[in-house]
Amino acid sequence: MNRLPRHDHYIAGEWTAPADGGYFPSVNPATATPWYEAASGTAADVDRAVGAARTAFEDPRWRDLSQTRRGRLLRALAELIGEHSEELARTESLDNGKLLREMRAQMAGLPEYFHYYAGLADKIHGEVIPGADRALLNYTLREPVGVVGAITPWNSPLLLTATKLAPALAAGNTVVVKPSEHTSASLLALAPLFERAGFPPGVVNVVTGLGAGAGAPLTEHPDVSKVTFTGSTETGRRIARTCADRLIRSTLELGGKSPNIIFPDADLGSAAMGVIAGIFAAAGQTCVAGSRVLVHREVYDEILERVTARAATIRIGDPLEETTELGPLAIAGQLAKVESYVELGQAEGGKVVCGGRRPELDLRGYFYSPTVFTGTDNSMRVCQEEIFGPVATVMPFGSEEEALAIANDSAFGLAAGVWTRDLNRAHRMAARLEAGTVWVNTYRSMSPMSPRAGFKSSGMGTEHGTEVIREYTRLKSVWINTSEEPVGDPFILRS
Ligand code: NAD
Repeated sequence: MNRLPRHDHYIAGEWTAPADGGYFPSVNPATATPWYEAASGTAADVDRAVGAARTAFEDPRWRDLSQTRRGRLLRALAELIGEHSEELARTESLDNGKLLREMRAQMAGLPEYFHYYAGLADKIHGEVIPGADRALLNYTLREPVGVVGAITPWNSPLLLTATKLAPALAAGNTVVVKPSEHTSASLLALAPLFERAGFPPGVVNVVTGLGAGAGAPLTEHPDVSKVTFTGSTETGRRIARTCADRLIRSTLELGGKSPNIIFPDADLGSAAMGVIAGIFAAAGQTCVAGSRVLVHREVYDEILERVTARAATIRIGDPLEETTELGPLAIAGQLAKVESYVELGQAEGGKVVCGGRRPELDLRGYFYSPTVFTGTDNSMRVCQEEIFGPVATVMPFGSEEEALAIANDSAFGLAAGVWTRDLNRAHRMAARLEAGTVWVNTYRSMSPMSPRAGFKSSGMGTEHGTEVIREYTRLKSVWINTSEEPVGDPFILRS
């Protein structure tokens, strides 16, 4: 039997075999077959990678590089990503089953993240603070925090890594990334491009492996000064506790159960497409999935009809095919989770009006049909817990206040959609929805320029935009006595 290709860790610019020799398989979810093995990281590998990152942080080639030059390196990297985008898109599609078309679009946008933070690299600075005593000059220095530990999920591997790497590097930090154990390949393909762009070895390191084996030791390592994490709320809480114990900062981008709200004055055709895009794109495996669809009673039947009609015709199949509209779920466990939630929703009293089963296909992968529930109440578990699959609950409401009450009755607060042509209502809803992102007459729009934060159990801290630089820097206050006057005896008080 042919052995699968093997990938090692990437540490200090070198492919590095795991300390204990362990590897684990990564499965192509469209075919349910393993297609490569990645190194199974342990605390010893993490220690090596953090050591390399610490050395690189103090290396004059990185520490003393001007901020303008840091920006140049980020731009060079962006160009290299552009040259490799097809290979990276294909790798991600094979690893997580998302449509090749979608991954191509993501890879085409990826360089923008590095260009944006390249532009910010030389705009990071402290300020001079006026004081009562003119002889005392007080200013602040905005410094990098040191070694950043970045831990990422499987649903958009490189995009969610870029949102961390680009600002962390622009601010002068060094990084150890632990990608999801389900999608290591694209980051391993990206890693050598950093040195090719001119970054000194050790500025970016990759340790692959499981959460407990490699992720946890990264958050616990004494030389890691900050953790940035995207993933489930449960893991986020654990990481926040570890960081709190160590008194280091963490940025957490977590789960969601986002409402997508349709008022009767909306363009109903667009709203129905917004619902479809919100929950069925990427098979519902996005943190911002619009999984709770709230529809005004006057247009409930019409929206339900439009959504179920389109959902029933979504072409499910091989994610590499141009004509496919819905690929598989990324992992076997995710398929089992979706199946159990659909059972649970029915047991709770919900009615499946579309989907609710695995489709009949020639492929062996982890496919699940677009599923729509009616008859659910927002208090049910299928409306409160993140399913992370192509499952929508469509619920009616009668007034703006009622829509707001249902929308905000959630432990999560990541995103929300509003469909209306009433300008005043759009602003009222945007102000009162408890969500870090509100979309009006659109869904899933995103840009490196626009801040992204999860409210409530959806996260802590911000990503994207200029604000994120604060997350990757620390402020130092410097006092300088500019006077030539001798410093007097401190115990002789002058009036
Ligand atoms: P997950 O929490 O299971 O895993 C995420 C990462 O954490 C993986 O790399 C995993 O190996 C690692 N990990 C697991 N246990 C760990 C531990 N004890 N210590 C350190 N690291 C550990 O999440 P997932 O299933 O990979 O991703 C799906 C989740 O991510 C969903 O909840 C989704 O909503 C969320 N997500 C959020 C955003 C956002 O921007 N808010 C974006 C994408 C995905």
